[in-house]
Amino acid sequence: MALVKSRAISLKSYRLGETSKVVVCYTRNYGKVRLVAKGARKGGGRLGAALEPMLVSGVVFYLREGRDLLFVSQAEVERQWPELRRDVVRMAYAGAALELTDALVSEREPDPGLFDLLENSLDRAAAAPPSSLDVVLWSFELSLASALGYAPELARCVVCGGPADGRVSFAARRGGIVCGDCLGEEPGARPLSDSAAKLLASMSPSGGETPPEPGSGTPAAPSTVIPAPQTVDIPTAVRDEISETLMGFLEEHAGRELRLKSLEFLAQIRRTGQPSAQSEQRHEG
Ligand SMILES: [Zn+2]
Repeated sequence: MALVKSRAISLKSYRLGETSKVVVCYTRNYGKVRLVAKGARKGGGRLGAALEPMLVSGVVFYLREGRDLLFVSQAEVERQWPELRRDVVRMAYAGAALELTDALVSEREPDPGLFDLLENSLDRAAAAPPSSLDVVLWSFELSLASALGYAPELARCVVCGGPADGRVSFAARRGGIVCGDCLGEEPGARPLSDSAAKLLASMSPSGGETPPEPGSGTPAAPSTVIPAPQTVDIPTAVRDEISETLMGFLEEHAGRELRLKSLEFLAQIRRTGQPSAQSEQRHEG
């Protein structure tokens, strides 16, 4: 058993007994871990406060092989984003990134690049213009897929390698764009509008880098940060198309439906009248 230190971002938490809670964190040095914060539920004090979501903490915990739950000895807040805490829309976008990381990343597989990507996405969710928040999330989704070794092919047909011209579809099972000529081989592919196909192509990671060998023991390469498209004036229908396409792709890899609470919350806000990200600010209790 070793006492170790790492930067950490809380992904979610649940109660443990009357007074403690388990905080699922993505740590920079040790990957995803389950930390037990003793007494964090009863007037938790500094330990509980430092393990709240939407912040980066320095945590010290007991690392023990073969143990699912690890005990925290110290936690200090290192960075926080007041913009996220007082704006429910921004918080939901950042929350989606945290939920996706929890859903798709395996425990105890360190990837410092992925930690930096997550921290960067909190930065961007806090600072981006409201109309760019979708783009911030798409970029995170693509970068996460890339970090996990399954970046989709967005610029060329994944079947024949030809240009993505004409009637382009997205085949989640195949992992990318399919041209009109090859559609017969992927009947389940989702047809894309021209605008959606162009936008997706613009978010294609440059070059076809080889993903790190899983379980090779070598440190993973830093995760690619996907370029964000310049335009933020994207029609709602195209936004929905891209959001659904990317989520369908991630679900294909997860092997199950990903029902993200954050995205359901955003959809609910849209249905009931979209609050401006600036004006709808929640007061802290
Ligand atoms: Zn093709």
